Amino acid sequence: MDTDTTQLACPHCLSINRVPDARLGDDPKCGRCGHGLFTGMPLALTAKNAEALLLKSEQPVIIDAWAAWCGPCRSFAPVFAAACQRLEPQFRFVKLDTEAEPQLASQFRIQSLPTLIAWQGSRDGGHEVARTSGAMPLPAFMQWIATSYGLA
Ligand SMILES: [Zn+2]
Repeated sequence: MDTDTTQLACPHCLSINRVPDARLGDDPKCGRCGHGLFTGMPLALTAKNAEALLLKSEQPVIIDAWAAWCGPCRSFAPVFAAACQRLEPQFRFVKLDTEAEPQLASQFRIQSLPTLIAWQGSRDGGHEVARTSGAMPLPAFMQWIATSYGLA
């Protein structure tokens, strides 16, 4: 197994790219469509891109399951975006709109909003690492991420 590259799905065309770890921080571009592999903003997780982003990318992914009618979800959105800006490209941040994607929400057994899921993608699939419910301030969220992945 090649440990010097990371396999990442392009959020634009969903092609699988293999990025040298040393180049991860250099705004890597998709080899097929030329778009950036990271955008600095959370992506919408959909039935169309979930497999590529969660099961074919060797990357930790933080999932924010939310709904437009959920006040705490809306107030948490800027915290989630700020964490994304700090932690890309080591982590990817995706938002799961539970009303637009009810099947995904059901697969993740989302029962309260917002629900935050720490996911670890790997070359042969992926798995959930941790989850929590409820909005939190940025420092607490950063700490939760670090603790979830054993980095704290
Ligand atoms: Zn692409």
